[in-house]
Amino acid sequence: MKRRDFVKRMGAGALVAGTLAGCSAQQQAAKGSAGGAARSFHWKMVTTWPKNFPGMGTAVNKLVALIDEMSAGRLAIKVYGAGELVPAFEVFDAVSSGTAEMGHGAAYYWKGKSEAAQFFSTVPFGLTAQEMNAWLYYGGGMELWQELYEPFGLLPVAAGNTGVQMGGWFNREINSPQDLKGLKMRIPGLGGEVLRRLGGTPVNLPGGEIFTSLQSGTIDATEWVGPYNDLAFGLHKAAKYYYYPGWHEPGTTLECLINRQAFTELPKDLQAVVTTACKAINLDLLSEFTARNNAALHQLVTRHKVELRSFPPEVLKELKGVADKVVAELAGRDPVAKRILDSFQQFRDQVVAWDEISERAYLNARGRGMDQA
Ligand code: CA
Repeated sequence: MKRRDFVKRMGAGALVAGTLAGCSAQQQAAKGSAGGAARSFHWKMVTTWPKNFPGMGTAVNKLVALIDEMSAGRLAIKVYGAGELVPAFEVFDAVSSGTAEMGHGAAYYWKGKSEAAQFFSTVPFGLTAQEMNAWLYYGGGMELWQELYEPFGLLPVAAGNTGVQMGGWFNREINSPQDLKGLKMRIPGLGGEVLRRLGGTPVNLPGGEIFTSLQSGTIDATEWVGPYNDLAFGLHKAAKYYYYPGWHEPGTTLECLINRQAFTELPKDLQAVVTTACKAINLDLLSEFTARNNAALHQLVTRHKVELRSFPPEVLKELKGVADKVVAELAGRDPVAKRILDSFQQFRDQVVAWDEISERAYLNARGRGMDQA
């Protein structure tokens, strides 16, 4: 099938999916079988997260349960945590080759396949969660992402967002850019490259290996996600200072990778079930993180006596200057990345102007809280 037709079908699928909520699973099953015998499908889902890990892992469980319910059991998906069927960082290859029909991860893990993939997870000082979704769904981002993964036989779909992450866990204070020199830190994607330019050593580790590496001193510092997820890994037991903001991950999109061949073999209604369920999880995970981060941060600070620190403005300014260079250089050596960056930046410029008079103006007007001065 030609890509244009494929994308058209994807668009049509999204429209059809809008009517699903009003139909019972039985009606859907009947619809699906109207053109022939209803066929059942059994898929494998490999993930980059530990199985059942709070947040990302449980979101995957919710996703497959939703697909099962919406498809009236016609599409059953078995979930494999990191290392169960394939190691965390082999998820992309596993879905590309058809070892599994679906995968869940984040696009910056695949920069070895295509550096441009990183734009579809997060960009340092780039878009927030809400802005990422707007770019992907209404700003041309989704089409570019699909085009980028097409040569790998993969269809990407946004399936979760972490919101603004935390800056990370450190055992020394970061008072100036010099303090980043010589720092061996787990930090993926473009943020890692920024650290390298400032004299640090970025390391990319799957989530499940972070705590041991930090505790044993294999790495000096790490970032992971935010209070809810970081507490679950017990990172406060291995580092003293918890820094914010997550300049490197302002709204990381998580992805479902779908094997294109497997997807095209699904009837249209099941295709719509898959893409719509991913869209639902995209919202669900962001909502869950936003809701749970507050309580987890409170617990980290009060019970575990974590020292919360903000990066000094001087450090953030330096990081931002380097980040802009890193992104521009990436676009300079890869024409595909250039096209994606042009779309991304054009969207960012517009949305920043709008955010000034909407989000920022409102947050400033609201102040620090209903009961605080
Ligand atoms: Ca992170």
